[in-house]
Amino acid sequence: MRVGVLALQGDFREHISALTHCDVKATEVRRVSELEQIDALIIPGGESTTIVSLAKTFEIFNPIKERIASGMPTYGSCAGMIMLADHIVAAKEGQETFGGINITVRRNAFGRQVDSFESDISAPEISSSPIRAVFIRAPWVEKVGENVHVLANYKGSDGLDHVVAVRQGHLLATAFHPEITDDFSVHQYFLQEVCK
Ligand code: GLN
Repeated sequence: MRVGVLALQGDFREHISALTHCDVKATEVRRVSELEQIDALIIPGGESTTIVSLAKTFEIFNPIKERIASGMPTYGSCAGMIMLADHIVAAKEGQETFGGINITVRRNAFGRQVDSFESDISAPEISSSPIRAVFIRAPWVEKVGENVHVLANYKGSDGLDHVVAVRQGHLLATAFHPEITDDFSVHQYFLQEVCK
């Protein structure tokens, strides 16, 4: 299994290092020739609007979209979740995504209350112990469509539960960043369950 991390912008180095802890040597992906060498992809956290514009500049936007649509296992954290969502709200005008997961994601949803926070969240299918989750100007999933499986919720300061981790077949997305913690359970789940 050759795993690549989209390395146009954002915390791709942290994902590579998390994968190293899981005994997977991941490669950086910026060009179509590098995309062709991988079987699975991680889209890091960062800024989704910048990822879109750089992906277009590097002429890798449509090739990634096509690989995702044709079954390449892909995991996106935070901005990566936005990139995998079929629909976004609070988007920049005309903002596109790779899509693939039948969800509507609200950008910067937790952002206005607290810019950044950490919490232990429960996601029993990913790990029997709580997962350390870091939220940074994080989105949440506002609408979950057909065939989408919810893996974790988080209670916001509005007192409501918000969906923060989902899976749809070969696609996995979290609103939080496991890559900047030393909890590798989400990466392990991706490698062992989603990529298999
Ligand atoms: N708010 C960012 C966006 O819209 C995502 C933040 C992050 O990845 N930490 O792309």
